[in-house]
Formats: sequence, structure tokens, C-alpha cells
Amino acid sequence: MADNSSKVDMDKLVSLCQRRGFIFPGSDIYGGLSGCYDFGPVGVELIRNIKEIWWRSMVRERDDVVGLDASILMNTQVWEASGHLTEFTDPLVECKNCHKRFRADNLHSDRCPECGGEFTEERRFNTMFKTFIGPVEEDAAVVYLRPETCQGIFVNFQNVLNTSRKRIPFGIAQIGKTFRNEITTGNFLFRTREFEQMELEYFVKPGTDEEWFEKWLQTRIDWYVKYGVRRENLDVDEHSKEQLSHYSKRTCDIMYRFPMGFEELEGMANRTDFDLKQHQKSSGKSMDYFDSETNEHYIPYVVEPSAGVGRCVLAFLCDAYDEEPDKDEIRVVLHFNQDIAPIKVAVLPLSRKENLATMAKDVYSGLAPCFMTQYDDTQSIGRRYRRQDELGTPYCVTVDFQSLEDNQVTIRERDSMSQIRVPIAALQDTLSAKLTGEDFFILPPGGQVVK
Ligand code: ATP
Repeated sequence: MADNSSKVDMDKLVSLCQRRGFIFPGSDIYGGLSGCYDFGPVGVELIRNIKEIWWRSMVRERDDVVGLDASILMNTQVWEASGHLTEFTDPLVECKNCHKRFRADNLHSDRCPECGGEFTEERRFNTMFKTFIGPVEEDAAVVYLRPETCQGIFVNFQNVLNTSRKRIPFGIAQIGKTFRNEITTGNFLFRTREFEQMELEYFVKPGTDEEWFEKWLQTRIDWYVKYGVRRENLDVDEHSKEQLSHYSKRTCDIMYRFPMGFEELEGMANRTDFDLKQHQKSSGKSMDYFDSETNEHYIPYVVEPSAGVGRCVLAFLCDAYDEEPDKDEIRVVLHFNQDIAPIKVAVLPLSRKENLATMAKDVYSGLAPCFMTQYDDTQSIGRRYRRQDELGTPYCVTVDFQSLEDNQVTIRERDSMSQIRVPIAALQDTLSAKLTGEDFFILPPGGQVVK
């Protein structure tokens, strides 16, 4: 595999995503809506896989974490208590000349980057989206779209504790949509106004929070590396006291080398007992935890790893993207980890001739219930391989005229482009083994390497 540690060109990535059905601009036929994107047929598989591997490693494979799916609209008192109504703001400045608005903390100069104009005084802009519940648009009916998923977890702390019978330390995980009325959006999926978060609130005994913070930071870095992100493309940025959010004792950002440079991929915060205490005060409901081992009552501290699905998609795409010289051409290929790859297997009949198509459709029907499989009989075989390379499909299965004679098919592996020939009867087991990590050249009985 070619060295891909240098920056990937964002324009090329955006164009590949649109061309191959990963990601389209939202409301495309109306000229789009800034900061909104739609995931196409391939993109939807990709985000489902990313959410699935997160859920698997954060919830299913851990005895100390349970899941939750809370509603997006919440009682406005939640946002009063959490401090979001007053604190969830970004500093906004406006150019006096061209009237463009910017987030002041993202600017590198005190002059407008568009026209060089002078800025207005900085003011705080609340980035929560407001709407109304019920038919009357009055102040009493105002509700907010959640700007983070975790408040749904905090308000359910006692419900989950009582029903799951978990003991501290334990966590509640959630994946869901969040909304932020960002002053400016940009860099493709990096900053959008509607996005999904994958958040874990991990409740610990006060005093053990710093140790857990370190453990979760390492666990989350390892997760990215396990699924294909190169370690050298990750970094950790420690927030200074001035940068800390109103609820945080310590925050570190896991940074990724995006095409525009190192930027936050995931946030890791020590939220202390801030949120639970605020909700206890505001709701009058106890958030107390009784530790039966030590006979102590306390309000737990919270360590929070919070990742954005969109930024993960972008990071996994950037790390997988490669342009490789192949004969006189350049092969564009996405070297996705197999668990992330949107399509696992493509079935490609060499021709559309009826007897071949019948056999290939049978092969497809046998595989489709087991793996995300695509059937493609358009264009030349070479072009179809290129297309699957751009989709990051790990295996292509080719049904050719020889298959009609010997009931065997060819499997081509994406990264090495090596090929083996295997009996159709062994195809499903062979692909299963390779998709769970078996060496490509381990052959089933009757299989052979194609030279
Ligand atoms: P930033 O400083 O970039 O605005 P943040 O520190 O406000 O981000 P957090 O509140 O820590 O972000 O949110 C946790 C995660 O949610 C981020 O690490 C990121 O992956 C994701 N996220 C936050 N805002 C956006 C956005 N506007 N678009 C896409 N993803 C986002």
C-alpha cells in the first residue's frame, strides 16, 4: 500500500463521495442547504457500519455499559439546569463591510478574511435550535433540539440504574442526532448543523475519575487504530483552563489529520458531578448513588468520550483513500477495514448472457443474506473492478464461462488484486473466513491460486 500519510485532497474526496453514492449535498435539487448532507446508498451502509462497530465495542462487548435511546426534544428545564440556555454560546463577530458572520475563536486575524473589513464587537450567540411544541408559537411553548445527546442520559440516570442493576463504575451509551446552529459550517462533514453523536457517559466514584479519564482516552485511540486509522494521523490536544466548557474539569480532544490539518475528531471530558448535581437541584429528584460495598452515598463523577459520526466518516474515508499507479493508469481505492466497508462482496458476471446471468444471480442470492452484497453486470469487468475499488469493496466474485463448466468462481481481493478460484459450494464459507480475518491465500478444498 502506498504511503498515504500526506494530506488527502478534500475536493477529490467530496467528488468521489458524490460520484459513487456515499454523500450528496442536502436538498440538492434546490441548491442545497448549508451544513446539511444526505447519505446515499453506499454512505448509509458506511455510517451504519461505523455506528455498529462503536456500539459493539462500547456496549455489547462490555459488561459495564448499557445503551439508551432518548428523545431529541426535551423539557426546557433540562437546558436551564445543564447551563446550555446561558452557556452554550459561540463568540460571533460580523464584518462591518460585507456583513459576513464568523466565529471569533476560529479567526486568525482581526480583519475579515473575505474582504479585509473591520469587525463589530464580539457578542455571544446561542447555538441551540429553537422550535415550538404544539400549535401556538408562544414563549411557554419553546423547546430546543438537543445540542448534545448526553443530557438524555443524565436525566435517565436513576431509571437506568434501577432497572439495569449496574454498579459503579458503569456507563450509559447513546447514538443519536444532535443539532447546532453553527455560525459557519464547512469542510464537508466536519462542521454541519445536523449531525450524529456517539456518546458514552461513564459514571465513576469521585476520586477515580482521573484514572478512568486516562483509560478511556487510550481505549478510544486504540479503537480508531483497530479500525484502520493510522496512529500518526491521530494526536491529543489538552484544553487549557480558559478553553474548558462550563461543566468540565479536564478535556482532551482526539485530533485527526484531516485534509485541512489536525482538528478535533472526538472530545474526552471529565464532566465531574456537574450535570447530575444540576439536575438534582433543578428537578428535586435525588441523583444519589449508594455504594453498598463502602456504605457511602455520593453523586458519581462522569467521564465522557463523545465522537461525531460525520467526523468519523471523514476520518475513515481520508485514511482509506489511496491513489496507486496501475499500469498506465491511477487506481483510486478505499482501503477500508473490512468491518467498515459498505459493501463486502460484489458479484460480477463476465457477460449478461442468460446462462451466466442465471448462475451469477444464484451466487448473489446465496451470499446476500450473509454479507452486504452488490450485483453488478454493467460495463467491462475492468471498469467494474475500478468501481468496486472506489467503493472499498474487499472482495469481488467473478462468474465466467468456465464457471458453467467447473462450478467455480474467481475471488479478487481489493488491496493486493490477487485472485483465487474456489468451488461455488465453498464460496460462502470462504468469504466468511476472509471477512473475519483469514489470510486471503488460505484456500478451501478444491481452491487454487490464479496466476
Ligand atoms: P468544535 O470545537 O469543533 O466546535 P466541540 O468541542 O464543540 O467541537 P463537542 O461538544 O466536544 O464538540 O462534541 C463532541 C463531538 O461531536 C466532536 O468531537 C465532533 O466529533 C462532533 N461535533 C461537534 N460539533 C459538530 C459539528 N458542528 N458538525 C459535526 N460534528 C460535530
